[in-house]
Amino acid sequence: METETKAGRFAGFGGQYLPETLMNEINRMAAAYEEAKDDADFQADFRTLLADYANRPSLLYFAENMTKDLGGAQIYFKREDLNHTGAHKINNVIGQALLAKKMGKTRLIAETGAGQHGVATATIAALFGMECEIFMGKEDTDRQRLNVYRMELLGAKVHAVTSGSMVLKDAINAALQDFAARPDDTFYVMGSATGPHPYPTMVKDFQSVISEESKAQLQDQIGQLPDYVVACVGGGSNAIGSFAHYLAEPSVHLVGVEAAGKGVDTNLTAATIEKGRLGVFHGMKSLFLQNEAGQINPVYSISAGLDYPGIGPEHAALAMEKRAEYVGITDDEAVAAFEYIAKQEGIIAAIESCHAVAYVQKLAPTLPKDQVIVCTFSGRGDKDVAAIAKYRGVEINE
Ligand SMILES: *Cc1c(COP(=O)(O)O)cnc(C)c1O
Repeated sequence: METETKAGRFAGFGGQYLPETLMNEINRMAAAYEEAKDDADFQADFRTLLADYANRPSLLYFAENMTKDLGGAQIYFKREDLNHTGAHKINNVIGQALLAKKMGKTRLIAETGAGQHGVATATIAALFGMECEIFMGKEDTDRQRLNVYRMELLGAKVHAVTSGSMVLKDAINAALQDFAARPDDTFYVMGSATGPHPYPTMVKDFQSVISEESKAQLQDQIGQLPDYVVACVGGGSNAIGSFAHYLAEPSVHLVGVEAAGKGVDTNLTAATIEKGRLGVFHGMKSLFLQNEAGQINPVYSISAGLDYPGIGPEHAALAMEKRAEYVGITDDEAVAAFEYIAKQEGIIAAIESCHAVAYVQKLAPTLPKDQVIVCTFSGRGDKDVAAIAKYRGVEINE
């Protein structure tokens, strides 16, 4: 039995679609977050940890080589790859873990696909001395054994989820079930700007530090707003954080880059805005890749971090309202961008982020030289090196 409420709507997307057993706890969380948002101590703790533990502010770097090479717009990178644990995920986890503490919770749980969000959650649980259990599809635990071990080193227990197709969507279901069964001591740390209210709003707020910084840094460096902000989109947390402080600046074009996998015209894709249809899943109304009967389709991308069959509700709304544009980049294009950016700028970027880079490679040459693009580097690419080698048919003996 699921009930529907009006909270957390984005132009008809979003909301809360949950069994009764979870609704109470999610509403307690929403109320606690409302309070925390205006609580000076909570915000000060959040800022202090971002600075002293996560290494913020992250750099805004002028990519001079790439700008010269492409011969068009000036390109800047927002370097979330330089954060502790190597991606933007830590921003959100610090915020949610602080809220958990404020609510008196002692146990953090989370879903993870490739393992990035699981590692970030296990990291903060270790720092806060909290219990931590991570739900990960069995398929993913087999593919990402190094990250499983990393989480275990950090003191977390990793559950290999064997229901459904044993991937990310099944791990989210398992985490929601665990949360419903143990609401008293447990807080579910959601990894993206997805799920029932208050997650999409809360995750956006925690990640909006990305655009708060980039706006001030660009102003400082060249005294203007960007003309384009480009970020990759899985569930949409780094993108919504990259967009947040520009939403009210109509001159700034916002571009979300989805993983087209083998191509949007194939079934091996994760391009939700382009190929998805309206549905309700994981507690929210949004766009999902689904078949005629409304069953969630398997998704595919070379990048495990973009491999989600839905998208956060605010992105669905921004796409519908045409405030942001969403484009697809294929595996081939992303891998080429991975190699390009390593050689041009000496940065090994996450394959997820390279979807955004690949789009910038197309966009920049079409723009005049006085235009400015800010591209979010959501994470670092050490984790992807073996997969890229395999894609190129290079054998690496470990
Ligand atoms: C998880 C992840 C993503 C995708 O998640 P969003 O919520 O869409 O930001 C992108 N890049 C990296 C490096 C990730 O770890």
